[in-house]
Amino acid sequence: MRRVGMKDTELYATLLGLQYPWRVREVKLNMVINRIEVWVEEALGAKWTCADCRKPVSIYDHSEERTWRHLDTCQCETHIHARLPRTKCPEHGVKQVVAPWAEPGKRFTLLFEGLLIDVLKECDITGATRLTGLSWDEAFKIMEKAVKRGLARKEKRIPEYLSIDEKAFAKRHRYETLVCDLQAGTVEYVIEDRSQESLEKYYRQFTEKERKEVKAVAMDMWDPYIAATRAYIPEAEDKIVFDRFHVTKQVSEAVDKVRRKEHKDLQAEGDERLKGTRYLWLTNQENIPEWRQEEFSKVKDTNLRTSRAWAIKESLRKFWEYRYAKNARSYFQRWYFWATHSKIEPIIRAAKTIKRHLANIMTYFKYHITNATAEGLNSKIQMVKMMACGFRNRDHYRTAIYFHCGGLDLYPRLSS
Ligand SMILES: [Zn+2]
Repeated sequence: MRRVGMKDTELYATLLGLQYPWRVREVKLNMVINRIEVWVEEALGAKWTCADCRKPVSIYDHSEERTWRHLDTCQCETHIHARLPRTKCPEHGVKQVVAPWAEPGKRFTLLFEGLLIDVLKECDITGATRLTGLSWDEAFKIMEKAVKRGLARKEKRIPEYLSIDEKAFAKRHRYETLVCDLQAGTVEYVIEDRSQESLEKYYRQFTEKERKEVKAVAMDMWDPYIAATRAYIPEAEDKIVFDRFHVTKQVSEAVDKVRRKEHKDLQAEGDERLKGTRYLWLTNQENIPEWRQEEFSKVKDTNLRTSRAWAIKESLRKFWEYRYAKNARSYFQRWYFWATHSKIEPIIRAAKTIKRHLANIMTYFKYHITNATAEGLNSKIQMVKMMACGFRNRDHYRTAIYFHCGGLDLYPRLSS
């Protein structure tokens, strides 16, 4: 180890932002392992006050030396060492002086934690461990604490425009319910399961007066969410907006059922026409890649049940383009007649499901919201889901969702 001269202690005091009574006593540089050790102490004769009553007190003793990881300096891992003084008040007894560079009990300085939060925002936890040399658990703990801090600071209010969405977590149909603020583009609440109870837990945090402020709620046609919202949001009948993508999905799934059945029947007769065409029927027509368009128009124009079902699905898309609810409604009536007279069972069932929910599909023309209204939020959630593949449990996933999508104030501050 090499002793660094006096000037370096002043340089480090500046770098650490230390102010009286704190000063740097010594800086040691270990070139072999690229490490810088900085010893900090209090100035002689510094004045202290009791943490409880703020009366002047004297130093009682010093606690054991502690170490904090700080931001790297000159590409060297930098650690701060100090023995923090303890004061003694005649009334309140012995108290530990709090270091201004870290939150009590933390092994990292405020600046290092802030940097790590920035790093974690840009890459997954494994990436953060490679950049900082921390372990997976250490990095995750910083993320977890940042979320805890952010949630504690978060103002308690219910957003005016909500979206309720279920997301499958990992495989095997395990779901989480995500409540999002459509205006802020943030995830407000993540809860296990997609039951009525899970959504009611969210609503119950607010008073009825607060819940009345909700203007509209976008959601899937999922009975438990409907029931919870009706139970807790005043005038929910006029505020629920069924998400248009979920509505369309009902018909797409019906098309897929028809295709599967028909493909099986055709194959039995040695007809392979529908082989490998699943994607073509499900995607929007304009999204079919050019190199498959000829193939698609050929199979589409043969007299198949699948192509009739497909035409009904495609024509429903026009419904959403109407500006006025009245016109949209009469278009729907024509579409419904066509669909229910198609003699294609899955299509008839899908059409009836949509009709049953029509009142809260029509609310779209008033509020124009969908679950994807908050732009960018869905792709962010998707990114977290991908990163969460390496997570061992759902708590990890929830923490990451709040961290990346919660719009929280995550950074440590001394007086929070
Ligand atoms: Zn005191």
